[in-house]
Amino acid sequence: PDSVPRRGGLRLPPDTSREAFDEAIAALKQELGQANVVLNDKPLVDGWYLEHPNTHDAFAVIDQEELVSSAIAYPGSTAEVQAVVKWANKFAIPIYPISIGRNVGYGGSAPRVPGAVVVDLGRRMNKILNIDAENASCMVEPGVSYFALYEEIQKKKLPLWIDTPDLGGGSVLGNAIDRGVGYTPFGDHFANHCGMEVVLPNGELLRTGMGALPGKNGADNPTWQSFQPAYGPYSDGIFSQSNFGIVCQMGFWLMRETGHQSYMITFPRDEDFPNIVEAIRPLAQKGILGNIPQLRHVAQELNVTGKPKSHWYAGTSPVPREVIQKHAAQMPCGDCSWVFYGTQYGDETSINSQLEIIKSAFSSIKGFKFFLPSDLPPDHYLHSRALVCSGVPVLRELDWLNWKPNAAHLFFSPITPTRGEDATVVHDINVRLHQKYAFDLFPTLCVAGREMHYITNIIYDRSSDDEKRRAAALMRELISETAREGYGEYRTHILFADQVARTYNWNNNALMRFNETIKDALDPNGILAPGRNGIWPKKYRGKGWEL
Ligand code: ADP
Repeated sequence: PDSVPRRGGLRLPPDTSREAFDEAIAALKQELGQANVVLNDKPLVDGWYLEHPNTHDAFAVIDQEELVSSAIAYPGSTAEVQAVVKWANKFAIPIYPISIGRNVGYGGSAPRVPGAVVVDLGRRMNKILNIDAENASCMVEPGVSYFALYEEIQKKKLPLWIDTPDLGGGSVLGNAIDRGVGYTPFGDHFANHCGMEVVLPNGELLRTGMGALPGKNGADNPTWQSFQPAYGPYSDGIFSQSNFGIVCQMGFWLMRETGHQSYMITFPRDEDFPNIVEAIRPLAQKGILGNIPQLRHVAQELNVTGKPKSHWYAGTSPVPREVIQKHAAQMPCGDCSWVFYGTQYGDETSINSQLEIIKSAFSSIKGFKFFLPSDLPPDHYLHSRALVCSGVPVLRELDWLNWKPNAAHLFFSPITPTRGEDATVVHDINVRLHQKYAFDLFPTLCVAGREMHYITNIIYDRSSDDEKRRAAALMRELISETAREGYGEYRTHILFADQVARTYNWNNNALMRFNETIKDALDPNGILAPGRNGIWPKKYRGKGWEL
């Protein structure tokens, strides 16, 4: 449903009367201007990716009205962000910063604490502050999307690439803060950031890295976007996947443009899976694989065509293996089992020799087939991979949502060693539990030299309470079963943040106790994104907020 009338009316912040709330909102309007504070009291509209709501999670996993803000604030500058933070402390109202809010599958723009005021940074703070062509770096505000950064670089005709995730509409800064990934050699977005400007929960302004050393005559430090750690403890990490600060500016390294060649390799048998992983590991460790390639189960070849499940299979149960096989046999990938999407970088000679090494490494797996984009029809998914892997933002991945009516999705993404044995354990758990809860299994493995992100996309009908319940139950059981084997998620939807955080519990939760110590020191009133990544300020702890 696109627009749902509100049953519950305006959702107030916890422990706040309507009177106290109205007084606080009036004060916030004084700070930001009438038009820049908007109550969230209208019907909830899910919209779609490019017209996404900042009022709630458009991909509701539970009742849509459970994860809503009370109001949305639009600061226009870092000084106004500081004013919002001071306001939140004064009125004891929780705030939840978002950059653009297209964090689809992870909670979108929804705050973890219902009734919090969402601080939508991106609407007005959306400037590309600098592109330094010599240093191959940039400095952006929260509202800069991958599309916007890409277009600016094209406009300036600079020989630089950005690194985009599968969908290009998100915030460059927001995605990096949530430790999202892309697919060029600069795919680890947080690892390729350099320098931040952060508003702390008490309103203080901080620059990290070399930015802490003032430049000449009050200029920004000339190496702020050149050297990451600077001097003393490397503090940037604690501002990612946390609620310790609001990042208002962030620097990023950009890649020099280069030659590139994307390709697809298919493998015939399901049982080849551990051997494929074993073959990839040395290629990745030797640096032959220049980016993070994807290994996907052939089930996805059906999905990425953008055709609905009903096109392939009339039943409601997961599409049976034989049916996938029958259809795959008619498609460009042929009757196969696993599909590898890779890209090589450099000049033509170097790419050709890399491809020879790769083919010879996979020759141990009988029946593998190698395809270049020119071997495949123009609408084949490989062409869109080739764009993403050379820094061009696309929206092709939205086709996933055609699978079911009212489709929404959740990602389950554990980290495993790049070893056939471990990959098999996680895959088997996924196969079994997806069957148990009757969902199609769509695994994509992003394989690096030492670890892999095993990512499954759970697609459910968000108009069906039964499907939502089953999707959430599947997530919960996947998290606990894989944790028992020693594997943990790198990122999760806000509803599962507590459960995932609890799996990182070595030595009597030493890590969470450390996080809580930092949280309480920086945010004694507990106003900034309480509960994000399972970190609850003292005010909320042990009072039934944890899920
Ligand atoms: P995107 O539009 O790229 O998907 P979001 O704006 O949804 O990114 O950000 C993802 C999550 O990261 C948010 O839900 C929020 O918890 C956190 N976040 C985003 N931007 C900031 C920021 N500038 N400072 C602190 N946390 C942020």
